[in-house]
Amino acid sequence: MAQANNTDSPLDCLIVGGGPAGLTAAIYLGRFLRSARVIDAGKSRASLIPTSHNYPGFPEGISGNELLTRLRLQACRYGATINQGIVEKLEHDAKDMFIAHYDGQTLAARTLLLATGSADIEPALPDFDNAIRRGFLRHCPICDGYEVQGQKVGIFGMGDNGVKEALFIRRYTDDLTLMTLGNGDKLNEQQCKLLYEANIKLIEDPISEVQVSGKQIIGLKVKDGQALLFDTLYSMLGCMVLSGIATQLGARCDESGNLIVSHNMETSVAGLFAAGDVVHGLSQICVAAAHAAIAATAIHHRLS
Ligand SMILES: Cc1cc2nc3c(=O)[nH]c(=O)nc-3n(C[C@H](O)[C@H](O)[C@H](O)COP(=O)(O)OP(=O)(O)OC[C@H]3O[C@@H](n4cnc5c(N)ncnc54)[C@H](O)[C@@H]3O)c2cc1C
Repeated sequence: MAQANNTDSPLDCLIVGGGPAGLTAAIYLGRFLRSARVIDAGKSRASLIPTSHNYPGFPEGISGNELLTRLRLQACRYGATINQGIVEKLEHDAKDMFIAHYDGQTLAARTLLLATGSADIEPALPDFDNAIRRGFLRHCPICDGYEVQGQKVGIFGMGDNGVKEALFIRRYTDDLTLMTLGNGDKLNEQQCKLLYEANIKLIEDPISEVQVSGKQIIGLKVKDGQALLFDTLYSMLGCMVLSGIATQLGARCDESGNLIVSHNMETSVAGLFAAGDVVHGLSQICVAAAHAAIAATAIHHRLS
């Protein structure tokens, strides 16, 4: 039988997700003297960042895990509680209270902030996680395109989006190959022309393996076994937005699955706020923190 927290004194805010967005909101709410609890499944995309060089205030860069540790410490300093767990279901009861079900327990809260982020869609290739953690395999040229200047770069991408990302990265290197992995439709004439004009190579065959070897990463082509050497690979196959538990509650999302929010980060369900990658596909720590600051302040005013 599920256990409940003391529903006579519900939390001011329950925060689902303990990445940069959720933890920043916890810091703000703690400093507004609000009771806030974070439930986190522990899979922040930030934990995959070997070193971020575009997060302001850290001129030498900071690893994602170091940043998360600092944010957790700061949130706890101001009274937030952080629990490991997966929120499986949310309800909104007749008393206008949010009820969250997680790991056989229930929690009641007067407001709720969804900061569940998104998950990268990865190709099914061995050794992929290792390559990400070692910084050979990247996902975000906005974050780290600067670091691949002059390198030999490969991109996994498809369709218009693959072409768009390749043209973006072309700014940083003239040795660039787009690989469509043999998935989906072949690129059309216009897409191929854009690549040709920008001097971007195209490989449309499937790739069987990704191996990290020494300082280089190798993508092996399936068809002829030819080894392709790259300094850096970008996997740009898109993201799955983790907005499901909010949409089940009636929150509206756009065609990409991002939650639609008002200027103060409130979803279409009153009292349910959202911040970070679950709201916007730009996927930046700065953006997540800014969303969280706006949402936490609006939550504080709503509770007043
Ligand atoms: C390899 C890589 C490199 C990157 N480099 C940079 C960079 O240099 N600079 C930059 O600005 N950005 C970078 N990013 C993007 C950045 O990591 C994200 O924009 C940022 O982490 C978004 O924060 P968030 O809090 O919205 O989501 P996340 O950090 O993803 O956190 C969401 C949290 O919610 C949890 N969660 C999800 N569902 C549930 C549930 N039902 N119950 C409980 N918990 C749940 C998840 O497990 C996770 O811990 C990078 C991303 C990747 C993958």
